[in-house]
Amino acid sequence: MQHIPVLTKEVITALSPSPNENFIDCTVGQGGHARLILERTAPNGKVLGIDLDPVQIVSAGILKANYTDRIILVNDSYTNVKEIIERNKFEFIDGILLDLGMSSRQLEGEQKGFSFQVDQGLDMRYNDETNYLTAEKIVNEWPEERLEQIIREYGEEKFSRKIAKNIVERRKQGRIKTTFELVEIIKDATPSAYWSRSAGRGSSIKSGHSKIHYATRTFQALRIAVNDELENVKKVLPDAVDVLKQNGRLVVISFHSLEDRIVKEFFKKAEKEKLIKILTKKPIIASSKELGENPRARSAKLRVAIKL
Ligand code: SAH
Repeated sequence: MQHIPVLTKEVITALSPSPNENFIDCTVGQGGHARLILERTAPNGKVLGIDLDPVQIVSAGILKANYTDRIILVNDSYTNVKEIIERNKFEFIDGILLDLGMSSRQLEGEQKGFSFQVDQGLDMRYNDETNYLTAEKIVNEWPEERLEQIIREYGEEKFSRKIAKNIVERRKQGRIKTTFELVEIIKDATPSAYWSRSAGRGSSIKSGHSKIHYATRTFQALRIAVNDELENVKKVLPDAVDVLKQNGRLVVISFHSLEDRIVKEFFKKAEKEKLIKILTKKPIIASSKELGENPRARSAKLRVAIKL
């Protein structure tokens, strides 16, 4: 499954890579954005590409063929960006990109149970060597109140209470192991009016409301909890500002309102402290043309700041 990078034109305009500049792609994935940067930073500009998922790092390795030592790939969490920079003696950083969330390949191809549309084991870890918490563990072992809380807070799911209750009821009969078992539980816990939502990838947008599948929010909540995603975003943003050169650009793409709020609030605070200048009063979103071609762009919001 080829991942189509989102907001490519907008990312390139915001980062404005020029010959010999250096960039960090904190979520290099399959290297879609990194390639566009490398095309513009010849002959000596470098990209340090980080990804927590070892499978993604292997696929980004394809960039080595064209860009050899101009691309450095590291399998680690962007929360360790400072150590990674030091270890790799990476300097003079002109721009940093964070394209949060997950890629289409992880969603559909990695057998991690990220998608409610494919029957797989409940895992949801980006990296199973460093992370021991799985979605299966949360669903089967966490107390009802904690389940309810993450589904409500990370999923912004209004039926969180009933879903958590049904999960706890159902697991008395044995461990809940697969995505489809969980989807069935969510279905039973929600009213039928909630099910008529598009079974597709939620790409249809009507009068400003995106129609999403009834399992979307619970799955999002589990993924955030398993990977501690919100804490990671909170941690990386100040570090990213810190390591940038003066006038360096920070570009962040978020995919749900919780992430976007963290980015927005951090930008505001850092601007007050005169660390950055915000270049996007309102976040940049995908054009209708891009939305038609790439469903992942549906919820993407891009914010840009420049280091002072
Ligand atoms: N821009 C990429 C796609 C990025 S998808 C491209 O054009 O191909 C988001 C990526 O972030 C995924 O590959 C996921 O594994 C990675 N990721 C998630 N959490 C991470 C973390 N804490 N540190 C580093 N990478 C992370």
